[in-house]
Amino acid sequence: MTRAACACGHEFEVRDDLAGGITNCPRCGKAVEVEGLRDPAWRLLQVVAAAGWASATAAAYVAWGVAGAAAVAMGLAAVLWLVSRAL
Ligand SMILES: [Zn+2]
Repeated sequence: MTRAACACGHEFEVRDDLAGGITNCPRCGKAVEVEGLRDPAWRLLQVVAAAGWASATAAAYVAWGVAGAAAVAMGLAAVLWLVSRAL
């Protein structure tokens, strides 16, 4: 079981397969993010994606300045978000 803490102060346990996902608080019914990641490979993928995102943003800043860095950062963030939804 994995623990989850709601903004209302209620703490409760959820199934392990919900780790890293979202569930509803049994007390107030709000959506709660459950801590934890599904597996180590997924965690590694997130670290690699974050590192790639940061280095690509830094490279874009050097090449194109603030506007380029912002465009690359937002574009990559959108791609990573879509990928994370698909997994
Ligand atoms: Zn709650």
